[in-house]
Amino acid sequence: MGKYKAKIGLEMHCEISETKTKVFSSAKNSYSEEANSNINPIDMAFPGILPVVNKEAVRMALMASMALNCQQPEYMYFERKNYYYPDLPKGFQLTQETKPIPVGIYGQVTFECNGKEKTVRINNLHLEEDAASLDHYDDFSTIDYNRAGVPLLELVTEPDISSADEAVAFLEHMRSVYQYLNISEADSKKGQVRCDVNVSIMDEDLDDSDPKNWGTKIEVKNVNSFGGVRDAINYEIKRQTKLKENNEYEQMEQQTRRWDEESGTTIYMRSKVDAIDYKYFVEPNIPKFKLSKEWLEEIKASLPMLAYERKLKYINNYNLSDYDASILVKQRDIADYFEKTISLGVDSKQAANWTNGMILSYLNSNEINIKEFFLTPEMLKELIDLINSKTISSKQGKEVFAKVLEKKKSPKEIVESEGMMQITDTGELDRIIDEVVNENPEQVAAYDPERPKILDYFIGQIMKKTRGKANPVTASQLMKEKLANLKK
Ligand code: ADP
Ligand code: MG
Repeated sequence: MGKYKAKIGLEMHCEISETKTKVFSSAKNSYSEEANSNINPIDMAFPGILPVVNKEAVRMALMASMALNCQQPEYMYFERKNYYYPDLPKGFQLTQETKPIPVGIYGQVTFECNGKEKTVRINNLHLEEDAASLDHYDDFSTIDYNRAGVPLLELVTEPDISSADEAVAFLEHMRSVYQYLNISEADSKKGQVRCDVNVSIMDEDLDDSDPKNWGTKIEVKNVNSFGGVRDAINYEIKRQTKLKENNEYEQMEQQTRRWDEESGTTIYMRSKVDAIDYKYFVEPNIPKFKLSKEWLEEIKASLPMLAYERKLKYINNYNLSDYDASILVKQRDIADYFEKTISLGVDSKQAANWTNGMILSYLNSNEINIKEFFLTPEMLKELIDLINSKTISSKQGKEVFAKVLEKKKSPKEIVESEGMMQITDTGELDRIIDEVVNENPEQVAAYDPERPKILDYFIGQIMKKTRGKANPVTASQLMKEKLANLKK
């Protein structure tokens, strides 16, 4: 970009997927089922209905607020954001504005981006309800109210982000936080994460801590994938830089644009001057309720170790490399699997190698979650034990791994049923070696301990007789001793 630097602020919406029911009604929190099957009179705004706040959703929102180092409020309130659109039949969305205090304000988040630490301030975090999903066809539209009332967390950052890379690293970090807290799968493919991206550019040598120097904010709505966030930011930086260069930037008004995935461009929607006044007011049907100190402390004490802390623990306590540790903590389920495996007594390096190698590549290529993975930590231990005790070679270990998953049997069962046990029994190997020696008098005579190349020939013969099951190290050792004795 050269002479300009970007200021970027994100508004990240993430559905809470882990409550049983919706945020203000007892309908099931799930919308991947038949359209309009998980709804009730509250979601449909039938006359006389009253909302009931889901305590579990509030608890999860408070956990997120604490993980973002926000201040928590003394009282919970909800407010009506009034607008008319069929996606919310009430005529308003229940949400929280910054006055009174939402579920969190003034936090900060530190994460890694391209090997460097980056801190972004959080302006606020609030709990609200999602709207129904609409699908538009040629001459009609459909509405599915299953999503109406699904709990939604919206976090708003300060414009502390300065590149598309940092924005994506921030979102990936937050996805990990939500997953580790067991609040949400935070899966953008399922539509659980949606972002609005605010971008402006300013002269590089001006002080960016002073808002007076900031450029004109352009808000890009409805960016529904992390790749989309990256592309939308890069597109806006380019577009705005061009405006600067043509001296058109200064007279530009604040505006709202829409990300168009197909064309990879942002499209003008409206000027900020036409901004809608939502006439927020406190929802009168939900009494403000005090958050007790005890409850807040209980929630704080329940916060699990997040990815970054776990990574440090793996490096410092389990002697893993930064690289291995980073891969393990990327998804909580994977980290949990690894920890379970070591708790059974498996060496940490071996557990990490198997998890990051064979297991992750199997999960990725079969597109399955480790929760549905047949090979449990107990079975992984069994497999590693079989290799460590030299019952099978490490090469056979990989075969056993594949067979376990194919035949749905334990590693021990596979090794037994496939007759894969290596022959390490010296008595049996001695007997085979004698046979080999008797059958190959010429090679025995030609053997020279100074030039042991012919040894490979003997090992080959042993492998042939045992169909590859002789332990190569033991067999080679015994063969050498035998030949040395014969030469005496
Ligand atoms: P609004 O009142 O229009 O919603 P806010 O001040 O609440 O605006 O900011 C919304 C988002 O825009 C926040 O994420 C904030 O960090 C970001 N933002 C504010 N000013 C700028 C700017 N000049 N450039 C880029 N992003 C900005
Ligand atoms: Mg806003």
